Amino acid sequence: MATVYIGLGSNIAPERNLVAAMEALRMALRPIAVSPVYRTPPWGVTDQADFLNAVLEAETALQPLPLLDTLQAIEASLARQRTRRWGPRSIDLDILLYGDLLLESERLTLPHARLHERGFILKPLCDLNPGLLHPVLRKDMAQLWAETDQTGIIVTELDLCPEGMCGGAKTALPYVN
Ligand code: ATP
Ligand code: MG
Ligand code: MG
Repeated sequence: MATVYIGLGSNIAPERNLVAAMEALRMALRPIAVSPVYRTPPWGVTDQADFLNAVLEAETALQPLPLLDTLQAIEASLARQRTRRWGPRSIDLDILLYGDLLLESERLTLPHARLHERGFILKPLCDLNPGLLHPVLRKDMAQLWAETDQTGIIVTELDLCPEGMCGGAKTALPYVN
């Protein structure tokens, strides 16, 4: 079993798509905790709608590439289309960290190559596990967040946990599989 952190992002019908993606992730992985949802201005390509972002902490027996396949199948099921890089999307599911594994391959880079530059990922990672160490940079998430541009990252009321099971930043989720 590996502990993994999955980043979720959407700016097309984002509330509906984040809820649907979380439902699918709960079936595919063993969820441990889910962060609050943050609203953030678009990153990279700025002439598009704001994003909603969150991070799921989970356990999985899937190896990294099968995990990526699983995430891409969920993206496809939610009508993810790759039109332009960093453009609007119904759902983006990225593997942020897979334990402390380092991997550089054609399909997969671990940890996610841009995680340390993105406040909208570092903030929810801090909510889940501020002492979590970036295995390349050897800094924890709280340090990386403190060093990041924090402007425009606003917490929302959207609750990705099932009814009545959430409260606070870190919430235990029951297994569904
Ligand atoms: P970014 O990687 O900057 O967040 P993006 O998520 O919009 O951009 P995608 O179009 O979702 O990019 O994915 C492009 C490719 O990135 C995927 O086909 C996948 O093979 C590759 N990739 C490399 N590392 C990862 C990772 N850690 N998690 C998810 N995809 C990854
Ligand atoms: Mg991404
Ligand atoms: Mg992606």
